[in-house]
Amino acid sequence: MDVKANYEEVLDKVAAACTRSGRNPEDVTVVVVTKYVSPERVEKAIAAGVEHFGESRSEGLAAKLTAVETPVHWHFIGRLQSRKVKEVVHECDVIHSLDRLSLAREINKRYKREKPIPCMVQVNVSGEETKAGVTPAELESFVRSLSSCEHIQVAGLMTMAPHVEDPEDVRPYFKQLHSLRAHIQNLHLPHAPCHHLSMGMSNDYEQAVEEGATFIRLGTSIVGSEVSHG
Ligand SMILES: *Cc1c(COP(=O)(O)O)cnc(C)c1O
Repeated sequence: MDVKANYEEVLDKVAAACTRSGRNPEDVTVVVVTKYVSPERVEKAIAAGVEHFGESRSEGLAAKLTAVETPVHWHFIGRLQSRKVKEVVHECDVIHSLDRLSLAREINKRYKREKPIPCMVQVNVSGEETKAGVTPAELESFVRSLSSCEHIQVAGLMTMAPHVEDPEDVRPYFKQLHSLRAHIQNLHLPHAPCHHLSMGMSNDYEQAVEEGATFIRLGTSIVGSEVSHG
């Protein structure tokens, strides 16, 4: 597993997707998802120049924080149980998976820093029952309700596209998240600048970048998968 070569290949493909869509590659941040790999792979990615990492479980995040000494940015990307909030809220820079008011209230209660924590609201654009996230119809009222949580900033929207053979099939979901972001931005809510779009994984990130992703979350295509550390 040549993490550096994988990362460079991804950066090349991101740059090409930006050229095709008239975007600046500096506006796209690669978040390397390390949930299936050991801390050694994190170190390899750091050596290759990666600065942003994602974990989907509090245990995985804690294990990486203990083992990895270099300061990097951690993103919490998975389903977050309310009782785990206190363990992760000061350890990560961004939460990508804000999907319900009870979770927002718990984050708001536990978060002790002065500046609000940037959170992405997860939207279930595909409507699959197994996926977390608010529905597109609920999004505006959910975002408005977050104004009562003074420690939370709605930094953007996140989605997980369905897993399909042909990544072109998920482009409509990325387009939809993009237009939902425009809708929220046009509300001009002080707590919801909503600059970001967290979308795109290993199999569909080129389409996501073309459709405006500012964070892409890549696991297997960069660090692979070591099942024993799942
Ligand atoms: C695991 C995971 C990813 C990365 O998936 P890959 O297909 O390995 O790139 C991205 N986002 C979320 C929320 C995940 O849980």
